[in-house]
Amino acid sequence: MKIKGFRSLKHIILPVVSLFIVSCTGYEFGANAFHKLPEETALDKIYNYSGKIIIIGAGASGLASAKILEENNIDYQIIEATDRYGGRLKKIEGFADFPMDIGAEWIHNKPEILNKLKGVKGKEIKEELISYRLESSSLWDGSNLSKVPKKELDEYFEGFTEYKFKNSTWYDFVADNFAKKVEHKIKYNSPVIAINYSKEQIEITTKNGEKIIGDKVLVTVPIGVLKSKMIEFIPKLDSKKINAIESIKYFTGFKLALKFSNKFYPNVISCETEEGDKEFYDYSFKKDSKYNILGLLSTGSSAEEYYKLGSKEAIVKNVISELDRMFDGAASKFYTGDFVFQDWGNHEFTKGTWSTSFFDKSSITELNRPIDKKVYFAGGANDLYNQGGVPGAIMSGYYTIDKLLSESK
Ligand SMILES: Cc1cc2nc3c(=O)[nH]c(=O)nc-3n(C[C@H](O)[C@H](O)[C@H](O)COP(=O)(O)OP(=O)(O)OC[C@H]3O[C@@H](n4cnc5c(N)ncnc54)[C@H](O)[C@@H]3O)c2cc1C
Repeated sequence: MKIKGFRSLKHIILPVVSLFIVSCTGYEFGANAFHKLPEETALDKIYNYSGKIIIIGAGASGLASAKILEENNIDYQIIEATDRYGGRLKKIEGFADFPMDIGAEWIHNKPEILNKLKGVKGKEIKEELISYRLESSSLWDGSNLSKVPKKELDEYFEGFTEYKFKNSTWYDFVADNFAKKVEHKIKYNSPVIAINYSKEQIEITTKNGEKIIGDKVLVTVPIGVLKSKMIEFIPKLDSKKINAIESIKYFTGFKLALKFSNKFYPNVISCETEEGDKEFYDYSFKKDSKYNILGLLSTGSSAEEYYKLGSKEAIVKNVISELDRMFDGAASKFYTGDFVFQDWGNHEFTKGTWSTSFFDKSSITELNRPIDKKVYFAGGANDLYNQGGVPGAIMSGYYTIDKLLSESK
C-alpha cells in the first residue's frame, strides 16, 4: 500500500493504518475510535456459571478474559504453549536505563483507555505516560533522506493522539492488572494441538500428550497460529470460518534495538516498503535516558528481505550499513556493538506481528462467531471496536467472555 507523505509516518498509529486513511476516509481507529467502546464491559457485570472454561493462550486477551472468571469464582484453566505469559508483549531490562517493550510499545489511544481496560471510571490515570508527539522525522526512499517539515508533523499529531509508558511497559500493565491475578491457573509449556468439541464436553490435547477436559473453550492464539493449522479442530472448522481466518492479513516481522554512543538520528526515520512497515525510531524518546537506543520495526516485505540474510548478525550488519548510507558513516562510527533482536515472525507460537482485521468487518464477524456454543474466539485479530493492538485484544477478551457466559445461562 503506497500513500505519499503521511504514509511514511504510519507506524505512529500502528503500522498500515495511516492518518491519511483516518482523515481521508473517515476511518476510525485507536484514539479516533474511543467513542466506539461500550459503556459497560464484562468487568462491570456479575456472572454465574458452574462449568469449566479452558482458555488457550496467556497473551493480553486470554489473561483479561481469565480475570473475569477469577473475579466471578468460575472454574477455569489457561493453557499456554510457552514458558511465560504476555504473548506479543515482552519486556527487556538491563539493555538501557529504562524498561523496553520489544513487542507492543505504543498506546495508539487516549490515556483513559488504560482506565477502561482496568474497569476504572474517569479520565484521571495512574500511569505516567509520554505524549508521543514527534519533534523530528525523516523519510528514506532507499537513496535519499529528506526531513518531514515540522508543520506537517504538527498537523499530523493534531489529528491523532499517541502515548508511550514513561518508565514502564505494556508488558507491566498487563502483568500488574491481569496476569498476576490469574497466574496460578496457567499451565505453561503446553502447546495445544487438538480441540475435540464433538461430544458434550470438550477435550483439549497438548503436544505433551496431555488431555484436558472442559465445558467451553476460549481460543486466543494469534491468527498466524490458526492459519498454520497447528491446532486440529474436531470436527473440522467450516469453510466460512476457514475463509475468514485465511483472509485476515497478518504481517511477519521483527524488532531490533541498537545502541549508539551518540545520537545522530531524528525521532523517526520512515522507510519506503512494498507492504508492511520499516521504521527506525528513537527508543529513548522522552525517556530521561543517558542511552541512545535506535529501534527498527520491520514488518511485511522489508522483513522478508532481511530474513533472506540468514541470521540476526547479518541483519544487524546490513542495517548498520544502511544507516551509514543515510548518515555518512555515523552508524559505524557510533555503534557500540550491542543489540537486541526479537523475531516475532519466526516465533513458533506467534508467527507474525499484528493483523489489520478491523479493515474487514465481515471477516471479523465471522472470526468471532462461536461454534456450537462451545468454541469461542478472541484476541488481537478479533478487535470489534477498532482499538487496535493491546486494547483491541483485551476488549475482544471482555466481549467474548461476556458472550460465552451470557449464552451459558
Ligand atoms: C513487533 C510488534 C509491535 C507491536 N506494536 C504494538 C503497539 O505499539 N501497540 C499496540 O497496542 N499493539 C502492538 N502490537 C500488537 C499487540 O502486541 C497484539 O495485538 C496483542 O498483544 C495481541 O494479544 P493476544 O492476546 O491477542 O495475542 P498474543 O499476545 O499473541 O497471545 C497469544 C498467546 O497464545 C499462545 N499460543 C500460541 N499458540 C498456542 C498453542 N497452540 N497452544 C497454547 N498456547 C498458544 C502464545 O504463546 C501467546 O502467549 C505489536 C505487536 C508486535 C509483534
